[in-house]
Amino acid sequence: MQRPVSPRGYLIDIEGVLVHDKRYVPVEGSVGWLERVAAAGMPFCLVSNNTTHRPASLAASLAAAGFPVTAEHLLTALGLGVRWLRERNLRRILWLGQDDLRDYLADEGIEAVEAGSCDAVVLGANPVLTVAALEKALEPLMENGVDLICLNRNTHFHDGRGILRYGPGAWAACLEALGGRGRVVTVGKPSETIYNEGLNRVGVAPSETLFISDDPIADLATASRMGMRTAFVLSGKYRDHEVLGRLAEVNWPDVICARLGDIAIPGKRND
Ligand SMILES: [Mg+2]
Repeated sequence: MQRPVSPRGYLIDIEGVLVHDKRYVPVEGSVGWLERVAAAGMPFCLVSNNTTHRPASLAASLAAAGFPVTAEHLLTALGLGVRWLRERNLRRILWLGQDDLRDYLADEGIEAVEAGSCDAVVLGANPVLTVAALEKALEPLMENGVDLICLNRNTHFHDGRGILRYGPGAWAACLEALGGRGRVVTVGKPSETIYNEGLNRVGVAPSETLFISDDPIADLATASRMGMRTAFVLSGKYRDHEVLGRLAEVNWPDVICARLGDIAIPGKRND
């Protein structure tokens, strides 16, 4: 299905669109498609809920896979979350994401503690998060009223070995149910925070921006509500359009196609 769209900029999901999964093998035709967009001088931003890699190393993995991408093209829930914390001077956090990111957080001026007083509790993907670690969040949330920051709300994900894991959204639901006095803030998709930052980066009006994703529920519904055009590719999470039955018709994507390489680029032949 293709409604006419003629975007001047692109926001593009990574997993299931550019690459198959966390092994970063390109979806057929996706490298060439992004090269054509770059050659046409059209602005694009890769918008990812990734909370497991330093943004610079994620950009390097994509570049190694052949994509014309630098760290400037990349907007991740982790990178944006760190900036969000810094801007609010929340410098000491109870970090419930992956342990190997503590160095990154320190480099960015955020002290990640495992217990004790903190300015915020922060959730990122962490396949080995324990109940004991979660319990460390009880006192800050319930007694000290600190904010709960969810880098994303994904309830589950496939790890680098393809194993299904709980995501930060599952733990967020658990901690939010405590009813602490602090705010509950989501930084990544489907929160508008990351979409607004993506729009700022491409510098194009929402109505002239095409958001491309393999997830019409978690990613495209927000983009559509914010006035963007949307494209749903069947190269990732869903292999057919049956999932659209779960969405109001007003939020159905403008374009549905097998893969990124099938999306027409204004003024370009897709060959
Ligand atoms: Mg995806």
